[in-house]
Amino acid sequence: MTQSWVHQAIGKIEADFQRSADTHLIKLDLPAIAGIDIYLKDESTHPTGSLKHRLARSLFLYALCNGWIDKDTPIIEASSGSTAVSEAYFARLLGLPFIAVMPRSTARRKIEQIEFYGGRCHFVAHSSEIYAESTRLAAELGGHYMDQFTYAERATDWRGNNNIANAIFEQMQKEPHPIPRWIVMSPGTGGTSATIGRYLKYQCLPSKLCVVDPENSVFYDYFQHRDNSLQSQSSSRIEGIGRPRVEPSFIPGVIDTMIKIPDTAAIAAIHWLEQQIGRKTGASTGTNLFGALLLAAKMKQAGDTGSIVTLICDPGERYLDTYYNPDWITEHIGCCQAMTDKLTAFNHSGELTL
Ligand SMILES: *Cc1c(COP(=O)(O)O)cnc(C)c1O
Repeated sequence: MTQSWVHQAIGKIEADFQRSADTHLIKLDLPAIAGIDIYLKDESTHPTGSLKHRLARSLFLYALCNGWIDKDTPIIEASSGSTAVSEAYFARLLGLPFIAVMPRSTARRKIEQIEFYGGRCHFVAHSSEIYAESTRLAAELGGHYMDQFTYAERATDWRGNNNIANAIFEQMQKEPHPIPRWIVMSPGTGGTSATIGRYLKYQCLPSKLCVVDPENSVFYDYFQHRDNSLQSQSSSRIEGIGRPRVEPSFIPGVIDTMIKIPDTAAIAAIHWLEQQIGRKTGASTGTNLFGALLLAAKMKQAGDTGSIVTLICDPGERYLDTYYNPDWITEHIGCCQAMTDKLTAFNHSGELTL
């Protein structure tokens, strides 16, 4: 272990953090639910374009401080998505080789982004093979398998220290309802919801955590019945969230409630959001937002006021040929018109149900 190299590496990540600003909290303007304020924490504006920038930074610091990474240690990760892009960025910052183990079917755009940051893509035939192949490759190369699905929940300091929950509460300080009634998040690794949920408990905050799950994911059923052997045959169509197995990083005990959101609702929601804020987002943001709007409609019905915070997880420009392509939506998700109609009606009535 080269102590000075590890110290330099930590210093480089800390300096990168010092150069960065936190992400914006965007407030929606929705007269139909006057007195209920909805906010979106815009995680798409990180240097590598998603909330995985936070996770990648935490995973590298955790691995460095654990003595798992040294000068020239190849970094291996099982990911077909945003995590590999963000980890490739940090590996380049430290001058380490990076290999993403991903299914051969991974979108060309993602591969290009990983390669842009100097990473290499190693393909397997089926997505279920990525875990074992990452372990094998790490052993063969003397590398370190980051394993986001195991370590996401523990690599981030959940007590505070600039984590995402900490930032949300600071940014809410001057709002009419500074303590949100609900924070809404969808799980991929489950790391972000674990951080938020633990923070709420540790700080003795009254805010509740609602976790929203897409179709073809086992998290919702696991939350209801706590059977961690659950498996789903098909994979999630909402990139970044929903898993076919119960990931170790998903912590059900910190969650107050879960809602299963249809994928058609998520797609309708991102197109609705574009009309509200003039921006395109990824589909997991649609899952989050539809959940937040359902909770807002319930609050209105009960005559309550207050605030709800959720996340923009990544930008829509990554998905122009999928979630923003009507032909792709028809073929892969189905008709979203019923959900679009519900959201249009919500604009006038403030009412929304599934
Ligand atoms: C990873 C990810 C999520 C889920 O975040 P976790 O902290 O892993 O649960 C949501 N949306 C996108 C686009 C992601 O990449």
